[in-house]
Amino acid sequence: MSILTIWSRRSTLTLIRNSVESYSRRCFAHKNYDYDLVVIGGGSGGLACAKDAVANGAKVAVLDYVVPTPTLGTKWGIGGTCVNVGCIPKKLMHQAALLGEGIHEAVAYGWKVEGVEKVKPDWSKLVQSVQNHIKSVNWVTRVDLRDKKVEYINALGSFKDANTVIARMKNGTERELTAKNIVIAVGGRPRYPDIPGAVEYGITSDDIFSLSHAPGKTLVVGAGYIGLECAGFLKGLGYEATVMVRSIILRGFDQQMANIVADAMVERNIPFLRNTVPKSVEKTEDGRLLVKYVNTETNEEGSDVYDTVLWAIGRKGLVDDLKLNNAGVVTKGDKIPVNEKEETNVPNIYAVGDIIHGKPELTPVAIHAGRLLSRRIFSGATQLMDYDNVATTVFSPLEYSSVGLSEENAIAKYGEDNIEVYHGYYKPTEYFVPQKSVRYCYVKAVAERSGDQKVLGLHYIGPVAGEVMQGFAAAVKSGLTIKILLNTVGIHPTTAEEFTRLAITKRSGLDPTPASCCS
Ligand code: FAD
Ligand code: NDP
Repeated sequence: MSILTIWSRRSTLTLIRNSVESYSRRCFAHKNYDYDLVVIGGGSGGLACAKDAVANGAKVAVLDYVVPTPTLGTKWGIGGTCVNVGCIPKKLMHQAALLGEGIHEAVAYGWKVEGVEKVKPDWSKLVQSVQNHIKSVNWVTRVDLRDKKVEYINALGSFKDANTVIARMKNGTERELTAKNIVIAVGGRPRYPDIPGAVEYGITSDDIFSLSHAPGKTLVVGAGYIGLECAGFLKGLGYEATVMVRSIILRGFDQQMANIVADAMVERNIPFLRNTVPKSVEKTEDGRLLVKYVNTETNEEGSDVYDTVLWAIGRKGLVDDLKLNNAGVVTKGDKIPVNEKEETNVPNIYAVGDIIHGKPELTPVAIHAGRLLSRRIFSGATQLMDYDNVATTVFSPLEYSSVGLSEENAIAKYGEDNIEVYHGYYKPTEYFVPQKSVRYCYVKAVAERSGDQKVLGLHYIGPVAGEVMQGFAAAVKSGLTIKILLNTVGIHPTTAEEFTRLAITKRSGLDPTPASCCS
């Protein structure tokens, strides 16, 4: 080995050692701080960040606190929205609704089910089963935090200054924690409309999954994800459900797809009150709820009586309790703006998940961003969160999943002449025997018009939409083109294979409905 090689190896080693030491000095607790990291909010993003930080050698505390809902006083354990009042209970209730349909389909397939016409849901049993699962997840989460040596503090967090968090416990006592780095991951809570009776008589998604009585005839106000999903599973469970729509269905989504989702719900006897906003909610003499509303186009007033009114009008970021002024963190409305490194305007304070401004409010987004952030702070990683091409599913009765651009956004970005839209209706094989409606099963690929036609967006309405879209999302992220898609051999008989059979463009004007069941 030459002198030169030895010298060069030594200097490389010295360089690495120096940079690791300087890195450690920057990232790990100064002796004056109690923690390397304090995370405010023990939900999807906060926990992912905290666990990853500990794995990278940091000393971490997580504060999590749930303020009970205003009227029913519903509260829950560690884990945040997704586990307790979001994705998980929602998916379970959606599944319960699908199983109800499945019982009737089973009969068509030859299962002898005694008294099938008498089959009805047991709301209390469903709630109990769902809540049991949630409690088990809460428990596993606490054990996991203990094992991983993340200190969990059941307290409401607020800032004293940019390095000090005040933890306010349930009994009113306070504890001061100092930290070199602070991550805000407080998420959001449902909004209530500013109309008489809204808070007194209405409930939200925070209450529905643990409601002690069956909801009965329900008015769901709001036509976003939560509105459509809740109305969908309630109807599937046998309760009358109506959706009140202020303007459009599923704002931000491809509007052709959104309207097909709504049409498929109307076909299942879920009425939509379009262009309508609520004016008031009152209790009737027999304890039901009288909702007065108005059509925003015609000014025509109307009213109806319901057993439950569920507000699904969006979620408010939980910035108010944080006393962000004390740390100098700026907000944008009820959200916190961050740069591409999830840094707020204060260098050692970061934010991830639903609380950040202008990004998808989804659990896997919060988790991924939280992990990457921890790795950048504590292990020298540089990878940034990519918020583009995040796939998502609306768990409506006939599910809708998409990744990438909507048709209208693709046209707005690239111009109509530069976009090709492939589409087709299809007939799931398993729908034939029970004679389920295939009218709204539809797929669409939005692509560049030239060259190999890079896929810009994929949209699917049909069964198990999330399962179908997950793999395609990876393909889109890897630069999928229409040429590759149509050269991919399908798996038959599946609904996912419909993407590999997309032969008709919208521009051609040809009929996108299939001629036969399985050609
Ligand atoms: P959260 O999970 O909301 O966690 C924040 C935590 O911080 C909460 O526990 C909160 O109580 C606590 N907190 C707030 N303020 C403080 C404070 N000052 N001090 C201490 N603790 C505080 N996403 C999907 O990907 N798929 C789905 O199917 C899906 N379904 C959903 C269904 C419903 C009904 C809802 C409401 C949401 C759904 N979401 C879904 C969205 C998903 O739940 C959120 O995107 C995700 O939970 C956001 O994670 P987060 O870490 O940002 O916040
Ligand atoms: P959204 O913002 O998606 O939808 C809110 C709906 O309420 C819109 O239809 C809106 O209408 C309407 N609305 C707003 N204000 C009023 C009002 N004052 N009166 C009447 N209607 C009103 O919120 P959601 O609560 O449905 O969901 C919040 C977030 O949670 C979503 O963005 C999503 O990221 C996440 N989520 C994800 C799910 C999933 O992945 N499957 C499931 C559920 C939630 P307008 O269009 O006119 O503003």
